[in-house]
Amino acid sequence: MTPKEKNQLLELRRNGWSIKRLAEFIHKTIPMIKKILYSVRPDEIYCIECGKPTKRRNVTSKFCSKECKQKYYKEHPDYLKKKTMHTGICPCCGKEFTYYGRSHQTYCSRSCAKKHYFAKLK
Ligand SMILES: [Zn+2]
Ligand SMILES: [Zn+2]
Repeated sequence: MTPKEKNQLLELRRNGWSIKRLAEFIHKTIPMIKKILYSVRPDEIYCIECGKPTKRRNVTSKFCSKECKQKYYKEHPDYLKKKTMHTGICPCCGKEFTYYGRSHQTYCSRSCAKKHYFAKLK
């Protein structure tokens, strides 16, 4: 697996995907997914607020510090609201879709995400 692919997995994991879902998504076993996620070095994970490596052991951590976390939440109040409605355009089929929740959804459906994911790998 390339670092880019690892980061893609990591991103999905941060978006709240379970290990099981990731395993199904890329057709790997759960222990393999765990191995991949834990093989990501802390200095390969960047703080979404300041862009510095987080140096955290927890790969789902998005921030390097408590300060960055607070700052980010302040600037993105919607982030904490679970029931925020968003709209997006699916890059796979071009359809407009709505979704709820704080995590970002790029595709209208799982099947589109899957199609696009594998198309990109080729
Ligand atoms: Zn930071
Ligand atoms: Zn779609």
